Amino acid sequence: MSKGVALITGAGQGIGRSISLRLAADGFDIGLSDIPTNKSNLEGVAREITRTYTGRRACVLLADVTVEGDVCKIVDDVVAELGGLDVMVANAGIIAVAPLVETTLADWEKIFAVNVTGVFLSYKYAAQKMIALNETHKRGRRIIGASSLVGKRGEQYLSAYAASKFAVRGITQSAAIELGRHGITVNAYAPGPIMTAMVDGLNEASMKLTGSSDPRGYNENSKKNTCVGYLGVPDDIAGLVSYIASSESHFITGQSVSTTLRARARRPTTLQVTIDGGMRFD
Ligand code: NAD
Repeated sequence: MSKGVALITGAGQGIGRSISLRLAADGFDIGLSDIPTNKSNLEGVAREITRTYTGRRACVLLADVTVEGDVCKIVDDVVAELGGLDVMVANAGIIAVAPLVETTLADWEKIFAVNVTGVFLSYKYAAQKMIALNETHKRGRRIIGASSLVGKRGEQYLSAYAASKFAVRGITQSAAIELGRHGITVNAYAPGPIMTAMVDGLNEASMKLTGSSDPRGYNENSKKNTCVGYLGVPDDIAGLVSYIASSESHFITGQSVSTTLRARARRPTTLQVTIDGGMRFD
């Protein structure tokens, strides 16, 4: 029996890939979306899902989340191919590392196009479809976005990225208020560093900007800010998304849930998640 249908953007690698596999393990049929250059990775994830989880279905949907027509189309196509849309995970994102005074307008706009416009379009078209589908068969639905711990407290050399991830929290909170009455919860994950290609890029950039010779310098510094002494892996986020996507999480909405990092007292950061039907937001 299928639990429903989940659509994940940026599903070809990293956190999106792990979320896709975990939701398939949970019983969802999966729409896997990414940019065309990641097509073969997407096909690999689709094969892994259908081989590993008997009865699960997966389809590959190419889209650039910055293009309105692409996002509208993958939402229509996932419903046509898999029969519904219960969970939307707006995971696709990019990073750029540069001091504020050297950040170009082009870099700023590129980050905002993927991380903010992409999330807006994913939330909008998924919500439209879920509201329409709710009229025929009512069941709780989930919209989930990718924020970041840097969406709660800025970090040096990440001004454009931090601003974009703060924006994801804003969209998530407003959407939660509007969509609760339709049985849709809207939350985001807001992790600390998770070992993916994105963090490899941070290590490289950090070497150049700080003059360090340590190729893992960013990782080592970040580890010092955790209580557990290590960084997260994509499956850590997939576990959280699995819970948010489940029916048990119905009383959590409007939250941007941080994982992995525990702020030290000298670096005050709010790491609060409320389970209150959306009375307060983090
Ligand atoms: P990643 O670079 O490994 O994967 C990002 C995915 O997004 C890739 O598959 C890429 O092809 C896709 N993508 C990029 N531009 C796209 C576009 N225009 N349209 C569609 N897809 C596009 O990164 P990741 O670490 O897996 O990050 C996933 C999400 O989690 C991102 O939004 C990221 O900002 C967020 N995040 C990551 C970390 C971390 O430490 N890795 C921490 C906090 C938040």
